[in-house]
Amino acid sequence: MSWRKVVCSSGIVGALLLVMAMQLQPTGKSIMAEVDRQKGLFLLPPLPYRFDALEPSIDTKTVDIHYSRHHKAYVDNLNKAIQGTPYQKCTMLELFQQASTLPAAVRNNAGGHWNHAFYWSVLRPMQNNAGPSPKFQKLLEDTFGSVDMFKQQFKQAGLSTFGSGWAWLIKDQNGKLVVKGMPNQDNPLMDLAEVKGTPLLTCDVWEHAYYLKYLNRRDEYMDAFWNIVDWERVEELYRN
Ligand code: MN
Repeated sequence: MSWRKVVCSSGIVGALLLVMAMQLQPTGKSIMAEVDRQKGLFLLPPLPYRFDALEPSIDTKTVDIHYSRHHKAYVDNLNKAIQGTPYQKCTMLELFQQASTLPAAVRNNAGGHWNHAFYWSVLRPMQNNAGPSPKFQKLLEDTFGSVDMFKQQFKQAGLSTFGSGWAWLIKDQNGKLVVKGMPNQDNPLMDLAEVKGTPLLTCDVWEHAYYLKYLNRRDEYMDAFWNIVDWERVEELYRN
């Protein structure tokens, strides 16, 4: 394999990519900030709450296994996949900007790691949860017709994703809200995404995200998902 196409922040092209990335998230704290690294290795970030914090929407055992095994495996496999390659010097965002040319193991595990870190970060216990603010409700109404119509469209994006994937709410490159289902571990930060932009919210619709409690009823899992969405976080991401 030739490494000539690999670009990251150590080179001029990488610097250009970084500028493009900064334009994607012009102000405020970067949504990539939560991907921790040490000596080039990606780290499994701490789960922001206890395993039982998302009950009853997502059961304790599912959160435990999903985080401790599935998410951890993506981190470990990503580190293995980039070890000794020029990709080690790339930031996560730089990997996503060239996702279409990455080896499958790098693309899938980079997406797998970041998507899970992002998923945990947009969820919170339902006990101290509230719905979207009046201002964001208005935005959802203006864009999708109503909050319920937004939720239906989001659910449909998850249900119509054949096999494994993710439902996304995205602030696209024109600043517009868009709902999109994406397969496998793809995300809206990748160059190959049909809708690119800033991810605001995601629902993991891989079976491992819900099967222990909901069996094959992905729709019930997606209905319960709304009880644990951290709208403050979603709106913060929208503003940044
Ligand atoms: Mn998952």
